[in-house]
Amino acid sequence: MIMSNDIVYDIAIIGGGISSSVFASTHLKNGFKGRIAIIENGRNLGGRSSTRNSFKNSGWQLNHGSPNLNICNTSKNLLLKTYIQELLDLNMIQLDSSDLIELYGESSNQCKLNYDFHSCQNYISSSSMSDLSKKIISYNNLKNQVDYYFQTLIYKLNYENNVWILTSKNGNKFKTKFLVCSSNLILHKRSLDILNISQIPLRKAIPVNYDKKIDKIIKLLYDQEYIERLTFLIYTKSNYGYKDKYKKKFRYFLLDNFLEEKFKFERIIFQKQVNNKLGIVLHTRNIKFINEYFQSNNKQKFKNSLLDKFNQIFDKNFCINKLIDYQDISIMSWRASQPSGIRIPENLQVCENFNLAFCGDWFDLDGFGRIEGAILSALNLSYKIISLS
Ligand SMILES: Cc1cc2nc3c(=O)[nH]c(=O)nc-3n(C[C@H](O)[C@H](O)[C@H](O)COP(=O)(O)OP(=O)(O)OC[C@H]3O[C@@H](n4cnc5c(N)ncnc54)[C@H](O)[C@@H]3O)c2cc1C
Repeated sequence: MIMSNDIVYDIAIIGGGISSSVFASTHLKNGFKGRIAIIENGRNLGGRSSTRNSFKNSGWQLNHGSPNLNICNTSKNLLLKTYIQELLDLNMIQLDSSDLIELYGESSNQCKLNYDFHSCQNYISSSSMSDLSKKIISYNNLKNQVDYYFQTLIYKLNYENNVWILTSKNGNKFKTKFLVCSSNLILHKRSLDILNISQIPLRKAIPVNYDKKIDKIIKLLYDQEYIERLTFLIYTKSNYGYKDKYKKKFRYFLLDNFLEEKFKFERIIFQKQVNNKLGIVLHTRNIKFINEYFQSNNKQKFKNSLLDKFNQIFDKNFCINKLIDYQDISIMSWRASQPSGIRIPENLQVCENFNLAFCGDWFDLDGFGRIEGAILSALNLSYKIISLS
């Protein structure tokens, strides 16, 4: 790893999700000549659109956050339209032609599900979701301008003599002339618990009344809420497969409200592995169920009970076999899977007085709370920063 202490970066980006990747890549493509640091708490790129490369179950790759991307507003937004076309031309993404099967409960009226994540045009990464972020940056990082710092959690910010100083929990310090926050964690009250600190990091760095935009964004974010999600990743045994001859990599099942209420899952995604095994990701946003999992004293028993639910959901299904056994079940907890409620106005994306900017799915853009919004915010940001100079 490069020692960060002596370098003053031109841009440091906190977070390595899809918005960070698209921003870094677009900014390079737009002619940015400086050095960029991407500082990410996780083990790789992708954030909430990332892939679990399990140490324990080697060879498996499961998209445990967003499995794909759905884009709705290209007709209104030329920038987004051009960008998606570019990703298609570069074969980084492809049209998602996977089965999308809606499951209805007995008492529902079986009208088409209005499900935000699978509406409009759907695309999948040509490899894994984490790889997509990696490829997006690599494609324009021809002169190696980007340094990556993984497993590095920033918890403290200072702004001195027009330079930002970022301190991480593992003791690294980063200096940068311009700071981009691709996550709102260090501006949001949830940072107090997560980072175990007494004051929101950005607030501590820039006290109240120093900058109207920063005050406004912190005030608005105070009331932004989040949808919690938990995903269960089932590594099935090699003898487990579909009843039919379905060959594609993904197969999505969406549950209607009745079934979601009954079984606690909102969607179930099958992911075929290179070794032909079948991974299953169960998504839940049912808080009571999530709490039950965390409070249960016998996690193994809880995991085993998932099989009963699964088998009830797919009882007599034409393509899904009964799940008798499994190799492993792991979980991923998303305390903040999607912002909800308050949307941050786009005109607060750049605080020019403090060489500070933001991107991510938490802005009031088409695709708020989805990958579409994250990408759009990143594309816009590069142009906004260029227009400053
Ligand atoms: C389970 C799940 C399913 C989803 N399904 C869909 C879907 O089907 N379709 C869809 O469009 N969207 C979906 N979403 C939402 C989608 O994943 C997000 O909208 C998108 O990934 C947001 O990208 P981002 O770059 O804005 O933020 P993020 O992906 O959250 O990236 C921010 C990154 O910053 C890092 N970070 C934060 N604070 C710090 C710090 N202090 N120091 C260092 N690193 C830090 C985080 O680790 C994270 O990697 C889903 C989300 C989840 C969780």
